[in-house]
Amino acid sequence: MQSVAVLGGGESGVGAALLAKEKNLSVFVSDYGSIADNYKKELDVHNILFEERGHSFEKLISADVIVKSPGIPDDSQIIIQLLNEDALVISEIEFASRYYDGKVVAITGSNGKTTTASLVYHLLCQSNYNIGLGGNIGYAFSRLLISEISYDWIVLEVSSFQLDNVKSFSADLGMILNITPDHLDRYNYIMQAYAEAKWKLAKAISATGTLFLNSDDVWSRKMLDHEMVTCEIAQISFADPLMSIDGVDVKKFLKLKGQHNLFNATMAVSAAQRVGLTASKIEIGLSTFSGIPHRLESFESIDGVEFINDSKATNIDAASVALSAIDKPIVWILGGVDKGNDYALLSDLVKSKVKGIICLTKDDSKIRKAFSEENIKILTTQDVSECVEYSMSLATRGDVVMLSPACASFDLFDNYIDRGNQFKKAVGEFGKSIKHST
Ligand code: ADP
Repeated sequence: MQSVAVLGGGESGVGAALLAKEKNLSVFVSDYGSIADNYKKELDVHNILFEERGHSFEKLISADVIVKSPGIPDDSQIIIQLLNEDALVISEIEFASRYYDGKVVAITGSNGKTTTASLVYHLLCQSNYNIGLGGNIGYAFSRLLISEISYDWIVLEVSSFQLDNVKSFSADLGMILNITPDHLDRYNYIMQAYAEAKWKLAKAISATGTLFLNSDDVWSRKMLDHEMVTCEIAQISFADPLMSIDGVDVKKFLKLKGQHNLFNATMAVSAAQRVGLTASKIEIGLSTFSGIPHRLESFESIDGVEFINDSKATNIDAASVALSAIDKPIVWILGGVDKGNDYALLSDLVKSKVKGIICLTKDDSKIRKAFSEENIKILTTQDVSECVEYSMSLATRGDVVMLSPACASFDLFDNYIDRGNQFKKAVGEFGKSIKHST
């Protein structure tokens, strides 16, 4: 391979381009949209040619290999055109893996990837190995490989999009946390196709490696029944994860709330044990991990009401585990861009735990219809400050106000981080205004 064309000028594409340049390959980056200024600067500094707002097909097809960023769907016009001309199209993690001979823990799933990958990384950092963390979180896999550190283990969070064009990428340890409906728009709304994309990780585990699966997850079980896997399989139950671990009392040392986090942690601890960490190192890691922002993040208490930011819960399953994790009455803030949600799946939880609902969205019709019979107050706003005021009008001492939207954020916010930050800021301001008025 002498020349590489990279499709997409975000973190994955620029990471791949930098790695290609370091390996003395001729490299060209092409983006259909515009490339962010910081990435353009980086490409310029490294003398990497790029184009934006359109693709030069002739330049792309002349490259030996096309590295596709995960944001570009397989059925986009440019990919179809390139494949029609027999171009070799690979994903960024596939490209990076060709230049890495250390070990990999790869983590996928519909929900819990970032939390679990961060915890695995945090645990492995208690060892004497050089540990990297990247993929769908922070730095691209390729970018980790141009650092001065020679990693012994890299913890990779991988999305289904990143697995789409994987060919010989392999991981030593892999986890599929769960396969529940998400991103179905990229898979023609066919759940089987989405599950198959996730399952590519199962096929990518080396023969001597281990695949950790959620034994309570319907689609993981279905895939396991029908698809051959050559590596060792370790199954961990979501409902009863502690059955599966020995030597470490995960519940005692873990600081995070919720059954889902107990499950995530059991997965992480199991992986750390395979890497060779002792129980005492794992216990130190567990007890010093305080979670990551926007995931069940308890950040403020006003007049005895606890505020939780779970803005990253962008689908029904994530909101469901968040509601389950709270054992106080909840004022629940939800809404945004619905990915085809079936809210009926949450009606038992709403009946037993939710005392009020605030729709923070442009379109509340589906939410109102779903919960209209629950005999609870439902308010709607598009304004975050008003949302906080509404929540305090419904909550009393001992309650929880939780933003766990079950939807994407793009109707009112830039992304889930913006949504979570605006919520936290508005709560902070509300708290200050109360102090001033008393
Ligand atoms: P991802 O990176 O897969 O989006 P995160 O760790 O960022 O996952 O968590 C996203 C949301 O999913 C959180 O708000 C949390 O409530 C929920 N979640 C975390 N772990 C799990 C799990 N194991 N099963 C279901 N939901 C989970």
